[in-house]
Amino acid sequence: MSVTGVPVAGSGKSFFGHPRGLMTLFLTEMWERFSFYGMRALLTLYLVAPPDGVTPPGGGLGISSGDATAIYGTYLALVYVTPLAGGWVADRMWGPRRAVLVGGIIIAGGHFLMAIPEQQFSFWLGLLLIAAGTGLLKPCVSCLVGGLYDTGDESRRDAGFSIFYMGINLGAFIAPLVCGYLADNINWHIGFAAAGFGMLFGVAQYLMGSKTLGDVGVAVPNPAPPEVRRRVFGLTGLLLVIVVALVAAFSLVRGGFSINDIVDVLSIIILVLPIIYFRRVFSSGKLTDVEHSRMRAFLVLFLASAVFWMIFDQAGSTLNIFAQENTDRNIGNFEMPAAFLQSVDPILVIIFAPIFAAVWTKLGDRAPSTALKFAFALVGIGLSFVVMVIPGLAADGGELSSVWWLIGVYVIQCWSELLLSPTGLSATTRLAPAGMGSQLLALWFLSVSVGDTIGGQLARGLDSLGLAPYFGILGSAAILCGLILLLASPKVRRMMAGVK
Ligand code: GLN
Repeated sequence: MSVTGVPVAGSGKSFFGHPRGLMTLFLTEMWERFSFYGMRALLTLYLVAPPDGVTPPGGGLGISSGDATAIYGTYLALVYVTPLAGGWVADRMWGPRRAVLVGGIIIAGGHFLMAIPEQQFSFWLGLLLIAAGTGLLKPCVSCLVGGLYDTGDESRRDAGFSIFYMGINLGAFIAPLVCGYLADNINWHIGFAAAGFGMLFGVAQYLMGSKTLGDVGVAVPNPAPPEVRRRVFGLTGLLLVIVVALVAAFSLVRGGFSINDIVDVLSIIILVLPIIYFRRVFSSGKLTDVEHSRMRAFLVLFLASAVFWMIFDQAGSTLNIFAQENTDRNIGNFEMPAAFLQSVDPILVIIFAPIFAAVWTKLGDRAPSTALKFAFALVGIGLSFVVMVIPGLAADGGELSSVWWLIGVYVIQCWSELLLSPTGLSATTRLAPAGMGSQLLALWFLSVSVGDTIGGQLARGLDSLGLAPYFGILGSAAILCGLILLLASPKVRRMMAGVK
Protein backbone atom coordinates (compact mmCIF):
# COMPACT_ATOMS: atom_id res chain seq x y z
CA MET A 1 0.00 0.00 0.00
CA SER A 2 1.34 3.44 -0.72
CA VAL A 3 0.68 6.65 1.11
CA THR A 4 0.38 9.95 -0.62
CA GLY A 5 0.35 13.32 1.07
CA VAL A 6 2.96 15.69 2.35
CA PRO A 7 5.26 13.97 4.83
CA VAL A 8 5.06 15.72 8.15
CA ALA A 9 8.59 14.82 9.24
CA GLY A 10 10.13 17.60 11.24
CA SER A 11 6.93 19.62 11.56
CA GLY A 12 5.86 20.81 14.99
CA LYS A 13 7.02 19.32 18.28
CA SER A 14 8.51 15.86 18.18
CA PHE A 15 7.87 12.47 19.82
CA PHE A 16 11.24 10.98 20.90
CA GLY A 17 12.83 12.88 18.01
CA HIS A 18 10.16 11.63 15.60
CA PRO A 19 7.20 13.35 13.90
CA ARG A 20 4.35 13.97 16.34
CA GLY A 21 2.07 11.88 14.15
CA LEU A 22 4.02 8.84 15.36
CA MET A 23 2.54 9.37 18.83
CA THR A 24 -0.98 9.37 17.40
CA LEU A 25 -0.34 6.15 15.45
CA PHE A 26 1.54 4.57 18.37
CA LEU A 27 -1.50 5.13 20.59
CA THR A 28 -4.02 4.04 17.94
CA GLU A 29 -2.20 0.75 17.40
CA MET A 30 -1.56 0.35 21.13
CA TRP A 31 -5.30 0.53 21.84
CA GLU A 32 -6.19 -1.63 18.86
CA ARG A 33 -3.76 -4.32 20.05
CA PHE A 34 -5.12 -3.83 23.58
CA SER A 35 -8.57 -4.77 22.30
CA PHE A 36 -7.22 -7.58 20.12
CA TYR A 37 -5.04 -9.28 22.72
CA GLY A 38 -7.43 -8.57 25.60
CA MET A 39 -10.18 -10.47 23.81
CA ARG A 40 -7.74 -13.11 22.53
CA ALA A 41 -6.64 -13.84 26.10
CA LEU A 42 -10.25 -14.71 26.99
CA LEU A 43 -11.51 -16.28 23.76
CA THR A 44 -10.43 -19.93 24.03
CA LEU A 45 -10.95 -19.99 27.79
CA TYR A 46 -14.52 -18.76 27.26
CA LEU A 47 -15.15 -21.34 24.51
CA VAL A 48 -14.08 -24.29 26.67
CA ALA A 49 -15.47 -23.13 30.04
CA PRO A 50 -18.51 -25.19 31.11
CA PRO A 51 -21.76 -23.18 30.99
CA ASP A 52 -22.48 -23.02 34.76
CA GLY A 53 -21.60 -19.74 36.49
CA VAL A 54 -20.52 -16.36 35.11
CA THR A 55 -16.76 -16.22 35.71
CA PRO A 56 -13.83 -18.56 34.85
CA PRO A 57 -13.54 -21.52 35.13
CA GLY A 58 -17.32 -21.67 34.33
CA GLY A 59 -19.78 -19.46 32.45
CA GLY A 60 -18.59 -20.27 28.92
CA LEU A 61 -19.84 -22.20 25.91
CA GLY A 62 -18.64 -25.66 26.99
CA ILE A 63 -16.98 -26.53 23.66
CA SER A 64 -14.29 -29.29 23.61
CA SER A 65 -10.65 -28.06 23.66
CA GLY A 66 -10.01 -29.51 20.18
CA ASP A 67 -12.95 -27.70 18.60
CA ALA A 68 -12.24 -24.51 20.55
CA THR A 69 -8.64 -24.46 19.33
CA ALA A 70 -9.80 -24.97 15.76
CA ILE A 71 -12.27 -22.06 16.09
CA TYR A 72 -9.58 -19.86 17.60
CA GLY A 73 -7.08 -20.84 14.86
CA THR A 74 -9.55 -20.03 12.10
CA TYR A 75 -10.51 -16.72 13.72
CA LEU A 76 -6.83 -15.69 13.91
CA ALA A 77 -6.33 -16.88 10.35
CA LEU A 78 -9.23 -14.65 9.26
CA VAL A 79 -7.68 -11.69 11.05
CA TYR A 80 -4.49 -12.11 9.01
CA VAL A 81 -6.22 -12.82 5.71
CA THR A 82 -8.48 -9.76 5.75
CA PRO A 83 -5.59 -7.30 5.18
CA LEU A 84 -5.64 -8.57 1.56
CA ALA A 85 -9.08 -7.01 1.17
CA GLY A 86 -8.48 -4.12 3.59
CA GLY A 87 -5.34 -3.07 1.72
CA TRP A 88 -7.28 -3.04 -1.54
CA VAL A 89 -10.08 -0.90 -0.10
CA ALA A 90 -7.54 1.56 1.31
CA ASP A 91 -5.42 1.75 -1.83
CA ARG A 92 -8.23 1.95 -4.31
CA MET A 93 -11.32 3.37 -2.60
CA TRP A 94 -10.88 5.16 0.70
CA GLY A 95 -7.24 5.98 1.35
CA PRO A 96 -5.48 4.58 4.45
CA ARG A 97 -6.55 7.43 6.78
CA ARG A 98 -10.23 6.68 6.41
CA ALA A 99 -9.65 2.91 6.39
CA VAL A 100 -8.06 3.11 9.86
CA LEU A 101 -11.02 5.10 11.22
CA VAL A 102 -13.69 2.82 9.76
CA GLY A 103 -11.69 -0.27 10.78
CA GLY A 104 -11.45 0.97 14.38
CA ILE A 105 -15.19 1.62 14.61
CA ILE A 106 -16.01 -1.83 13.19
CA ILE A 107 -13.59 -3.50 15.63
CA ALA A 108 -15.11 -1.68 18.63
CA GLY A 109 -18.59 -2.71 17.42
CA GLY A 110 -17.41 -6.33 17.23
CA HIS A 111 -16.15 -6.32 20.81
CA PHE A 112 -19.37 -4.78 22.12
CA LEU A 113 -21.39 -7.46 20.31
CA MET A 114 -19.32 -10.06 22.12
CA ALA A 115 -20.09 -8.30 25.37
CA ILE A 116 -23.82 -9.07 25.07
CA PRO A 117 -24.46 -11.94 27.51
CA GLU A 118 -26.16 -15.21 26.55
CA GLN A 119 -26.33 -14.41 22.83
CA GLN A 120 -24.35 -16.83 20.72
CA PHE A 121 -25.30 -15.14 17.45
CA SER A 122 -23.93 -11.73 18.48
CA PHE A 123 -20.82 -13.44 19.86
CA TRP A 124 -19.93 -15.05 16.51
CA LEU A 125 -20.91 -11.97 14.52
CA GLY A 126 -18.66 -9.91 16.82
CA LEU A 127 -15.71 -12.16 15.97
CA LEU A 128 -16.34 -11.72 12.25
CA LEU A 129 -16.56 -7.94 12.60
CA ILE A 130 -13.27 -7.79 14.52
CA ALA A 131 -11.56 -9.78 11.75
CA ALA A 132 -13.02 -7.47 9.07
CA GLY A 133 -12.13 -4.27 10.94
CA THR A 134 -8.61 -5.47 11.65
CA GLY A 135 -8.13 -6.10 7.92
CA LEU A 136 -8.78 -2.39 7.35
CA LEU A 137 -6.91 -0.98 10.33
CA LYS A 138 -3.81 -3.13 10.79
CA PRO A 139 -2.07 -2.82 7.41
CA CYS A 140 -3.07 0.84 7.04
CA VAL A 141 -1.82 2.06 10.37
CA SER A 142 1.66 0.63 9.61
CA CYS A 143 1.48 2.16 6.20
CA LEU A 144 0.72 5.58 7.74
CA VAL A 145 3.79 5.20 9.97
CA GLY A 146 5.92 4.75 6.85
CA GLY A 147 4.27 7.84 5.34
CA LEU A 148 5.44 10.07 8.20
CA TYR A 149 9.02 10.04 6.89
CA ASP A 150 10.61 11.53 3.81
CA THR A 151 12.00 9.06 1.31
CA GLY A 152 15.69 8.68 2.07
CA ASP A 153 15.11 8.99 5.82
CA GLU A 154 15.48 5.20 6.15
CA SER A 155 17.22 4.95 9.50
CA ARG A 156 14.72 7.25 11.22
CA ARG A 157 11.89 5.30 9.60
CA ASP A 158 13.28 2.00 10.91
CA ALA A 159 13.66 3.52 14.38
CA GLY A 160 10.08 4.83 14.06
CA PHE A 161 8.85 1.30 13.36
CA SER A 162 10.72 -0.02 16.39
CA ILE A 163 8.99 2.55 18.62
CA PHE A 164 5.69 1.62 16.97
CA TYR A 165 6.34 -2.10 17.67
CA MET A 166 6.73 -1.14 21.34
CA GLY A 167 3.22 0.36 21.20
CA ILE A 168 1.90 -2.96 19.85
CA ASN A 169 3.46 -4.86 22.72
CA LEU A 170 2.52 -2.33 25.37
CA GLY A 171 -1.14 -2.79 24.40
CA ALA A 172 -0.67 -6.58 24.24
CA PHE A 173 0.94 -6.54 27.71
CA ILE A 174 -1.67 -4.46 29.57
CA ALA A 175 -4.79 -5.96 27.98
CA PRO A 176 -4.75 -9.52 29.38
CA LEU A 177 -4.17 -8.06 32.87
CA VAL A 178 -7.21 -5.76 32.60
CA CYS A 179 -9.55 -8.05 30.66
CA GLY A 180 -8.42 -11.16 32.56
CA TYR A 181 -9.00 -9.44 35.91
CA LEU A 182 -12.47 -8.21 34.93
CA ALA A 183 -13.50 -11.59 33.50
CA ASP A 184 -12.32 -13.41 36.62
CA ASN A 185 -13.83 -10.98 39.11
CA ILE A 186 -17.02 -9.72 37.44
CA ASN A 187 -17.85 -11.77 34.35
CA TRP A 188 -16.61 -12.71 30.89
CA HIS A 189 -18.71 -10.15 29.06
CA ILE A 190 -17.34 -7.22 31.06
CA GLY A 191 -13.91 -8.50 29.98
CA PHE A 192 -15.01 -8.42 26.32
CA ALA A 193 -16.56 -4.96 26.82
CA ALA A 194 -13.24 -3.65 28.24
CA ALA A 195 -11.60 -4.66 24.96
CA GLY A 196 -14.28 -2.63 23.13
CA PHE A 197 -13.66 0.45 25.31
CA GLY A 198 -9.93 0.11 24.57
CA MET A 199 -10.64 0.32 20.84
CA LEU A 200 -12.96 3.31 21.42
CA PHE A 201 -10.14 5.17 23.22
CA GLY A 202 -7.96 4.37 20.22
CA VAL A 203 -10.52 5.78 17.79
CA ALA A 204 -11.07 8.90 19.94
CA GLN A 205 -7.40 9.76 20.17
CA TYR A 206 -6.91 8.98 16.44
CA LEU A 207 -9.56 11.60 15.68
CA MET A 208 -8.15 14.07 18.20
CA GLY A 209 -4.59 13.57 16.91
CA SER A 210 -5.66 13.93 13.29
CA LYS A 211 -3.88 17.31 12.94
CA THR A 212 -0.53 15.72 13.82
CA LEU A 213 -0.80 13.51 10.74
CA GLY A 214 -1.08 16.40 8.27
CA ASP A 215 -2.54 14.98 5.09
CA VAL A 216 -0.61 11.70 5.17
CA GLY A 217 -2.75 8.90 3.77
CA VAL A 218 -5.77 11.09 3.07
CA ALA A 219 -5.65 10.77 -0.71
CA VAL A 220 -6.62 7.52 -2.43
CA PRO A 221 -3.32 6.26 -3.87
CA ASN A 222 -4.66 4.47 -6.93
CA PRO A 223 -8.44 5.00 -7.32
CA ALA A 224 -10.24 2.06 -8.92
CA PRO A 225 -12.35 2.90 -11.98
CA PRO A 226 -16.04 1.93 -11.69
CA GLU A 227 -15.65 -1.19 -13.87
CA VAL A 228 -12.81 -2.50 -11.67
CA ARG A 229 -14.90 -1.88 -8.54
CA ARG A 230 -17.83 -3.70 -10.10
CA ARG A 231 -15.62 -6.67 -10.99
CA VAL A 232 -14.11 -6.83 -7.49
CA PHE A 233 -17.52 -6.52 -5.79
CA GLY A 234 -18.85 -9.22 -8.13
CA LEU A 235 -15.97 -11.56 -7.26
CA THR A 236 -16.42 -10.85 -3.53
CA GLY A 237 -20.11 -11.66 -3.84
CA LEU A 238 -19.25 -14.88 -5.67
CA LEU A 239 -16.79 -15.86 -2.94
CA LEU A 240 -19.47 -15.31 -0.30
CA VAL A 241 -21.94 -17.43 -2.25
CA ILE A 242 -19.31 -20.20 -2.52
CA VAL A 243 -18.65 -20.02 1.24
CA VAL A 244 -22.37 -20.23 2.07
CA ALA A 245 -22.91 -23.08 -0.42
CA LEU A 246 -19.95 -25.06 0.95
CA VAL A 247 -21.08 -24.53 4.55
CA ALA A 248 -24.56 -25.73 3.57
CA ALA A 249 -23.07 -28.78 1.82
CA PHE A 250 -20.88 -29.64 4.85
CA SER A 251 -23.87 -29.32 7.21
CA LEU A 252 -26.00 -31.51 4.98
CA VAL A 253 -23.39 -34.26 4.77
CA ARG A 254 -22.78 -34.12 8.53
CA GLY A 255 -26.46 -34.12 9.38
CA GLY A 256 -26.96 -30.61 10.85
CA PHE A 257 -25.24 -27.23 11.02
CA SER A 258 -22.51 -26.55 13.56
CA ILE A 259 -19.85 -23.85 13.85
CA ASN A 260 -17.31 -26.51 12.77
CA ASP A 261 -18.76 -26.38 9.25
CA ILE A 262 -17.80 -22.70 8.95
CA VAL A 263 -14.38 -23.42 10.50
CA ASP A 264 -13.65 -26.20 7.99
CA VAL A 265 -14.82 -24.27 4.93
CA LEU A 266 -12.79 -21.20 5.89
CA SER A 267 -9.77 -23.45 6.55
CA ILE A 268 -9.95 -24.91 3.06
CA ILE A 269 -10.26 -21.46 1.47
CA ILE A 270 -7.34 -20.07 3.49
CA LEU A 271 -5.14 -22.99 2.46
CA VAL A 272 -6.06 -22.68 -1.22
CA LEU A 273 -5.56 -18.88 -1.37
CA PRO A 274 -1.74 -18.82 -1.22
CA ILE A 275 -1.53 -21.54 -3.88
CA ILE A 276 -3.55 -19.34 -6.25
CA TYR A 277 -1.58 -16.26 -5.23
CA PHE A 278 1.88 -17.78 -5.73
CA ARG A 279 0.86 -19.35 -9.04
CA ARG A 280 -0.31 -15.97 -10.27
CA VAL A 281 2.89 -14.25 -9.21
CA PHE A 282 5.16 -16.92 -10.74
CA SER A 283 3.24 -17.22 -13.98
CA SER A 284 2.63 -13.48 -14.48
CA GLY A 285 5.58 -13.38 -16.89
CA LYS A 286 6.45 -9.98 -15.46
CA LEU A 287 9.28 -11.04 -13.17
CA THR A 288 12.93 -10.56 -14.06
CA ASP A 289 15.28 -13.51 -13.36
CA VAL A 290 16.47 -11.93 -10.12
CA GLU A 291 12.89 -11.24 -8.99
CA HIS A 292 11.91 -14.81 -9.84
CA SER A 293 14.75 -16.18 -7.76
CA ARG A 294 13.90 -13.85 -4.85
CA MET A 295 10.26 -14.95 -4.99
CA ARG A 296 11.36 -18.58 -4.74
CA ALA A 297 13.36 -17.64 -1.65
CA PHE A 298 10.27 -15.85 -0.32
CA LEU A 299 8.26 -19.05 -0.84
CA VAL A 300 10.71 -20.89 1.43
CA LEU A 301 10.39 -18.14 4.06
CA PHE A 302 6.60 -18.28 3.67
CA LEU A 303 6.52 -22.00 4.47
CA ALA A 304 8.88 -21.59 7.42
CA SER A 305 6.79 -18.72 8.72
CA ALA A 306 3.62 -20.82 8.50
CA VAL A 307 5.25 -23.58 10.59
CA PHE A 308 6.40 -20.97 13.10
CA TRP A 309 3.01 -19.28 13.65
CA MET A 310 1.28 -22.68 13.71
CA ILE A 311 2.96 -23.24 17.08
CA PHE A 312 3.54 -19.68 18.28
CA ASP A 313 -0.08 -18.59 18.09
CA GLN A 314 -1.18 -21.55 20.20
CA ALA A 315 -0.04 -19.43 23.15
CA GLY A 316 -3.59 -18.05 23.06
CA SER A 317 -5.24 -21.47 22.73
CA THR A 318 -3.55 -24.72 23.81
CA LEU A 319 -1.15 -23.06 26.25
CA ASN A 320 -3.86 -20.72 27.52
CA ILE A 321 -6.09 -23.73 28.31
CA PHE A 322 -3.06 -25.39 29.90
CA ALA A 323 -2.67 -22.35 32.16
CA GLN A 324 -6.35 -22.53 33.11
CA GLU A 325 -6.68 -26.26 33.68
CA ASN A 326 -3.26 -27.74 34.37
CA THR A 327 -1.18 -25.05 36.05
CA ASP A 328 -0.84 -24.10 39.70
CA ARG A 329 -1.33 -20.33 39.47
CA ASN A 330 -1.23 -19.57 43.20
CA ILE A 331 1.17 -16.93 44.40
CA GLY A 332 0.85 -16.83 48.18
CA ASN A 333 -2.91 -16.80 48.65
CA PHE A 334 -3.67 -15.03 45.35
CA GLU A 335 -4.72 -17.21 42.42
CA MET A 336 -3.65 -15.41 39.27
CA PRO A 337 -6.17 -15.51 36.37
CA ALA A 338 -4.90 -17.77 33.56
CA ALA A 339 -5.20 -14.84 31.10
CA PHE A 340 -2.43 -12.98 32.99
CA LEU A 341 0.12 -15.35 31.47
CA GLN A 342 -0.75 -13.90 28.05
CA SER A 343 1.10 -10.78 29.16
CA VAL A 344 4.41 -12.61 29.52
CA ASP A 345 5.40 -12.67 25.82
CA PRO A 346 4.72 -8.97 25.11
CA ILE A 347 6.63 -7.76 28.18
CA LEU A 348 9.54 -10.01 27.17
CA VAL A 349 9.42 -8.54 23.65
CA ILE A 350 9.62 -5.04 25.14
CA ILE A 351 12.67 -6.12 27.15
CA PHE A 352 14.49 -8.17 24.50
CA ALA A 353 13.68 -6.37 21.22
CA PRO A 354 16.20 -3.56 21.85
CA ILE A 355 18.82 -6.15 22.87
CA PHE A 356 18.33 -8.18 19.69
CA ALA A 357 18.43 -5.01 17.57
CA ALA A 358 21.67 -3.92 19.27
CA VAL A 359 23.25 -7.35 18.70
CA TRP A 360 22.40 -7.31 14.98
CA THR A 361 23.81 -3.79 14.64
CA LYS A 362 26.97 -4.76 16.51
CA LEU A 363 27.48 -7.90 14.41
CA GLY A 364 26.97 -5.85 11.24
CA ASP A 365 27.97 -8.02 8.26
CA ARG A 366 28.62 -11.00 10.54
CA ALA A 367 24.96 -11.16 11.61
CA PRO A 368 23.23 -14.41 10.53
CA SER A 369 21.35 -14.30 7.22
CA THR A 370 17.55 -14.13 7.15
CA ALA A 371 17.31 -17.84 6.28
CA LEU A 372 19.58 -18.77 9.17
CA LYS A 373 17.59 -16.63 11.62
CA PHE A 374 14.44 -18.36 10.39
CA ALA A 375 16.05 -21.78 10.89
CA PHE A 376 17.01 -20.89 14.48
CA ALA A 377 13.49 -19.56 15.07
CA LEU A 378 11.97 -22.86 13.92
CA VAL A 379 14.29 -24.89 16.12
CA GLY A 380 13.46 -22.54 19.03
CA ILE A 381 9.70 -22.69 18.59
CA GLY A 382 9.88 -26.48 18.21
CA LEU A 383 11.98 -26.71 21.36
CA SER A 384 9.40 -24.71 23.29
CA PHE A 385 6.78 -27.40 22.55
CA VAL A 386 9.22 -30.23 23.27
CA VAL A 387 9.80 -28.65 26.70
CA MET A 388 6.00 -28.66 27.20
CA VAL A 389 6.09 -32.48 27.00
CA ILE A 390 7.23 -32.60 30.66
CA PRO A 391 4.37 -30.56 32.19
CA GLY A 392 2.15 -32.19 29.51
CA LEU A 393 2.93 -35.63 30.99
CA ALA A 394 2.07 -34.35 34.47
CA ALA A 395 -1.22 -32.95 33.13
CA ASP A 396 -2.07 -36.21 31.35
CA GLY A 397 -1.54 -37.90 34.72
CA GLY A 398 -3.93 -35.42 36.36
CA GLU A 399 -1.31 -33.26 38.13
CA LEU A 400 -0.88 -29.47 38.16
CA SER A 401 2.46 -28.03 37.03
CA SER A 402 4.37 -25.01 38.27
CA VAL A 403 3.69 -21.75 36.44
CA TRP A 404 7.42 -21.49 35.71
CA TRP A 405 7.09 -24.08 32.94
CA LEU A 406 4.86 -21.78 30.92
CA ILE A 407 6.97 -18.72 31.72
CA GLY A 408 10.12 -20.58 30.58
CA VAL A 409 8.38 -21.70 27.39
CA TYR A 410 7.30 -18.10 26.69
CA VAL A 411 10.91 -16.93 27.06
CA ILE A 412 12.03 -19.42 24.35
CA GLN A 413 9.05 -18.40 22.19
CA CYS A 414 9.81 -14.69 22.55
CA TRP A 415 13.44 -15.16 21.46
CA SER A 416 12.23 -17.20 18.48
CA GLU A 417 9.67 -14.52 17.64
CA LEU A 418 12.35 -11.84 17.64
CA LEU A 419 14.43 -13.96 15.24
CA LEU A 420 11.57 -14.40 12.80
CA SER A 421 8.86 -11.75 13.00
CA PRO A 422 10.73 -8.43 12.47
CA THR A 423 13.23 -10.20 10.20
CA GLY A 424 10.43 -11.58 8.05
CA LEU A 425 8.70 -8.22 7.69
CA SER A 426 11.87 -6.48 6.69
CA ALA A 427 12.99 -9.28 4.29
CA THR A 428 9.54 -9.24 2.68
CA THR A 429 9.79 -5.54 1.84
CA ARG A 430 13.28 -6.07 0.40
CA LEU A 431 12.46 -9.21 -1.62
CA ALA A 432 9.36 -7.72 -3.25
CA PRO A 433 9.41 -7.40 -7.04
CA ALA A 434 9.01 -3.84 -8.34
CA GLY A 435 5.60 -2.36 -7.48
CA MET A 436 4.52 -5.39 -5.45
CA GLY A 437 5.59 -4.27 -1.98
CA SER A 438 2.17 -4.15 -0.37
CA GLN A 439 0.98 -7.34 -2.05
CA LEU A 440 3.95 -9.22 -0.70
CA LEU A 441 3.31 -7.87 2.80
CA ALA A 442 -0.24 -9.15 2.54
CA LEU A 443 1.24 -12.48 1.44
CA TRP A 444 3.49 -12.44 4.51
CA PHE A 445 0.42 -12.09 6.72
CA LEU A 446 -1.18 -14.90 4.73
CA SER A 447 1.64 -17.16 5.93
CA VAL A 448 0.44 -16.42 9.49
CA SER A 449 -3.10 -17.37 8.41
CA VAL A 450 -1.93 -20.64 6.92
CA GLY A 451 -0.01 -21.49 10.10
CA ASP A 452 -2.96 -20.62 12.35
CA THR A 453 -5.36 -22.65 10.22
CA ILE A 454 -3.16 -25.75 10.24
CA GLY A 455 -2.42 -25.32 13.96
CA GLY A 456 -6.13 -25.01 14.69
CA GLN A 457 -6.99 -28.13 12.71
CA LEU A 458 -4.13 -30.18 14.19
CA ALA A 459 -5.19 -29.21 17.68
CA ARG A 460 -8.39 -31.14 17.10
CA GLY A 461 -6.21 -34.19 17.78
CA LEU A 462 -5.66 -32.86 21.29
CA ASP A 463 -8.80 -34.39 22.73
CA SER A 464 -7.86 -37.93 21.67
CA LEU A 465 -4.05 -37.75 21.64
CA GLY A 466 -3.29 -36.32 25.09
CA LEU A 467 -1.14 -33.26 25.77
CA ALA A 468 2.36 -34.77 25.96
CA PRO A 469 2.25 -36.60 22.58
CA TYR A 470 0.62 -33.56 20.99
CA PHE A 471 3.33 -31.15 22.14
CA GLY A 472 6.06 -33.70 21.37
CA ILE A 473 4.97 -34.44 17.79
CA LEU A 474 4.39 -30.81 16.80
CA GLY A 475 7.58 -29.61 18.49
CA SER A 476 9.74 -32.30 16.84
CA ALA A 477 8.22 -31.56 13.43
CA ALA A 478 9.12 -27.87 13.76
CA ILE A 479 12.66 -28.73 14.86
CA LEU A 480 13.02 -31.02 11.82
CA CYS A 481 11.83 -28.19 9.52
CA GLY A 482 14.34 -25.88 11.22
CA LEU A 483 17.21 -28.33 10.64
CA ILE A 484 16.28 -28.75 6.97
CA LEU A 485 16.23 -24.96 6.59
CA LEU A 486 19.57 -24.78 8.38
CA LEU A 487 21.10 -27.07 5.75
CA ALA A 488 19.39 -25.22 2.92
CA SER A 489 20.19 -21.74 4.23
CA PRO A 490 23.27 -21.09 2.00
CA LYS A 491 21.16 -21.97 -1.05
CA VAL A 492 18.25 -19.80 0.10
CA ARG A 493 20.69 -16.98 0.71
CA ARG A 494 21.95 -17.28 -2.88
CA MET A 495 18.34 -17.31 -4.13
CA MET A 496 17.79 -14.01 -2.35
CA ALA A 497 20.26 -12.49 -4.80
CA GLY A 498 21.95 -9.85 -2.72
CA VAL A 499 19.18 -9.38 -0.10
CA LYS A 500 20.73 -10.39 3.24
N1 GLN B 1 2.76 -9.46 17.68
C1 GLN B 1 2.69 -8.73 16.45
C2 GLN B 1 1.39 -7.99 16.35
O1 GLN B 1 0.46 -8.26 17.06
C3 GLN B 1 2.93 -9.62 15.25
C4 GLN B 1 1.87 -10.63 15.00
C5 GLN B 1 2.06 -11.37 13.68
O2 GLN B 1 2.68 -10.92 12.73
N2 GLN B 1 1.49 -12.53 13.61
O3 GLN B 1 1.26 -7.11 15.55
